[in-house]
Amino acid sequence: MSPKEVRLYNTLSRKIEVLTPGTPGTVDIYSCGPTVYSYAHIGNMRAYIFADFLRRGLTLLGYQVNHVMNITDVGHLTDDADSGEDKMELGCRREGASAWEIARKYTEAFFNHAAQLNILRPSTVCKATDHIPEQISLIEKLETKGFTYKTEDGLYFDTSRFERYPNLARLDTEGLREGLRVDKGAKRHKTDFALWKLAKPGEKRQMEWDSPWGRGFPGWHIECSAMAMKYLGAQFDIHTGGVDHIPIHHTNEIAQSECATGVQPFVRVWMHGEFLLLDDSIKMSKSAGHILTVDTLIEKGFDPRSFRFLVLQTHYRKQLGFSYEALTAAQKGLERLIQQVIKLPAPSTLSLEAGPKTQGALDYHAAFIHGVAQDLNMPQALAEVHKLVGDGAIDPQEKTLLLAAWDEVLGLDLWTPVKTNEEPVPQECLDLLLLRNQARQQRQWTEADRLRGELLSRGFEILDSPQGSSLKKRS
Ligand code: AMP
Ligand code: ZN
Repeated sequence: MSPKEVRLYNTLSRKIEVLTPGTPGTVDIYSCGPTVYSYAHIGNMRAYIFADFLRRGLTLLGYQVNHVMNITDVGHLTDDADSGEDKMELGCRREGASAWEIARKYTEAFFNHAAQLNILRPSTVCKATDHIPEQISLIEKLETKGFTYKTEDGLYFDTSRFERYPNLARLDTEGLREGLRVDKGAKRHKTDFALWKLAKPGEKRQMEWDSPWGRGFPGWHIECSAMAMKYLGAQFDIHTGGVDHIPIHHTNEIAQSECATGVQPFVRVWMHGEFLLLDDSIKMSKSAGHILTVDTLIEKGFDPRSFRFLVLQTHYRKQLGFSYEALTAAQKGLERLIQQVIKLPAPSTLSLEAGPKTQGALDYHAAFIHGVAQDLNMPQALAEVHKLVGDGAIDPQEKTLLLAAWDEVLGLDLWTPVKTNEEPVPQECLDLLLLRNQARQQRQWTEADRLRGELLSRGFEILDSPQGSSLKKRS
């Protein structure tokens, strides 16, 4: 059976287009992965849940999906546009650990959080530090073709040489050029970006390599072009990321990739997930050093699937406001749904290959598929789930056949009851845990021990693991 037609919104054209993969029946996706200097927050996780729905949805529609994701473990500065501090070095100083240890710790934590959210592991996961030669050879190509220039601190891409530079973000490059006096440093144009950064004289970085331009490290953008091309070729089907990547990171990826290979477009469909917005109280706790992670949600008594369910209810191109009230409502909604589903025959008791037969069930399936195929309209697909569950005219076995197939896309484990922590950890104990972790990072051992004792007296034990620390109620 040939795959179903799918329409996706392409940021490049600002239109919904029919996806025409390079190889019929197969879709190659590249997703910008996490920068592993700290825990990924739940906003980041929304971006990965979106990519996961895409991958799972295309699979249901009959495509063979090849999903590649990078791990940024070098080169990402605190400002996406080549200024500020190296995020990995920042992590090292914060925790008194080596850059390699920091990368390992937060990569593990990322995949642990992703697994809690039922995000499938991409078929290929590639680290920037494992692909330095590929990045150097791509930069060499750009240099040979005359797209680069040297400054005191590295080798830069000259964006004025690439006419299509403003296209993805609809950038007003004239406006940007007029603003040249602003923060351009040694660059010729404000939009130019680093391909290779030289280590500063006298500075010993933990992550640096020899290159034709001197010892140093790659710029952030080049890693994604080099790895996407290595695993997916000079042109591929879909590239995902958050909307913040449109004006700089992805714009730069297109410039360096298309200039190096001469092949355009580099990517057929650019897809961008909108942001998760935190309410003011959460923003405040964030600026006080809290990162709102999947573990935080679990500590507060939520089943991580409730967050996936919350994300599912809003189209990926719409902003989603996060609050604990919204998450509580999502958890209740998921609980209600699962309570209804659990009354149906378990998928393990049926032969799933047979699929539904009656016209009513087939109509539901067509409607679910239509939602997924219409620019990944998961809220619409979810509406079919609710309608089906409540439809007394459909045979329970047929409902199970449909829901089991759809759950391959939803990733909700619909036959597994919601896990709730009856007694969520009180906020003041979470605050004490944060203070204790900060004390440990600053090697203030006595204070850290005092805070551990304080938590014990409130009935909570600290559990330290490679994924971070959490609290457990003493039995
Ligand atoms: P980073 O680790 O900073 O490169 O970000 C990882 C991914 O999360 C990228 O695709 C970002 O675009 C995305 N992202 C960052 N903040 C948010 C947010 N608040 N909501 C949704 N996605 C985000
Ligand atoms: Zn990227």
